[in-house]
Amino acid sequence: MTQPLNADLHCHSVVSDGTLTPEALAARAHANGVDLWALTDHDEVGGQQRAIDAAQALGLKYLTGVEISVTFIDTTVHIVGLGFDHTDPRIVTGLNDTRDGRGPRAMEMGAQLAKVGITGAYEGALKHAGNPRLVSRTHFARFLVESGVCRDTSEVFRRFLTEGKPGYVEHRWANLGDAVRWITQSGGLAVIAHPARYRFTPNEEYALFSEFKQHGGRGVEVVTGSHSAAEAVRYADMAREFDLLASRGSDFHSPDESYTDLGTLPALPADLGTVWSALAHRVH
Ligand code: AMP
Ligand code: MN
Ligand code: MN
Ligand code: MN
Repeated sequence: MTQPLNADLHCHSVVSDGTLTPEALAARAHANGVDLWALTDHDEVGGQQRAIDAAQALGLKYLTGVEISVTFIDTTVHIVGLGFDHTDPRIVTGLNDTRDGRGPRAMEMGAQLAKVGITGAYEGALKHAGNPRLVSRTHFARFLVESGVCRDTSEVFRRFLTEGKPGYVEHRWANLGDAVRWITQSGGLAVIAHPARYRFTPNEEYALFSEFKQHGGRGVEVVTGSHSAAEAVRYADMAREFDLLASRGSDFHSPDESYTDLGTLPALPADLGTVWSALAHRVH
């Protein structure tokens, strides 16, 4: 039997909330046996050219990537875009507009944390952000670990920064249809990221999948770092039911924080169509 392609189409660099550079990630993916890689920074394509160049230098196949924050039925949903033209003004402008909300949100998070006695969190988070235009909860989490408030970032997300906990600031991200269109109009393919992570009712989840398809979305992450084996089975079924292509990605952020390393995921079920089969013409 031939080995399935080791594709890893979801990870983060210092350009968003990862701790490694695009070059270090390319080297790590290559060393771990990845055959096809995509860097998918949150709401930002500033690392794409570096990733393309680094992959090319290693002889590693590459698809452009991004992970767009979307608000759907008052819930934050992540849409991964793959294989688009990262210089297309439609995706560049759309992402620029979504990113703008992060600055005021981060200042408000800092103010909320100050109310429970944690001072200097905004400045502390900013120091961890490789990209000052992309301050995320992960950067606050690293500050809270560094300052001894929590032992690790998982403890931070249990005690702070999530709904109902100190430091959580409600935020409106992009519309689902807009995000899917930025990706597809720039020549790429849109994918629902880590679907098991959203707390939707079955009806709401059905609405997400059907509206995503109506807007032109084509794929779903079936195998990803945060899915259990049972969840992968469940979303393989959803891919069949909604006639979506399957994607696979570790969602690797950092050697110190991520449980799943680049290129170490289980294979996709063999009967599913893959996102990369539809993106052969977009591979660098
Ligand atoms: P933001 O886009 O600023 O809301 O930050 C979201 C990021 O926080 C995600 O992409 C993850 O990297 C991280 N995150 C969210 N929830 C958790 C969690 N429970 N454990 C660890 N990291 C988390
Ligand atoms: Mn992240
Ligand atoms: Mn995500
Ligand atoms: Mn991610």
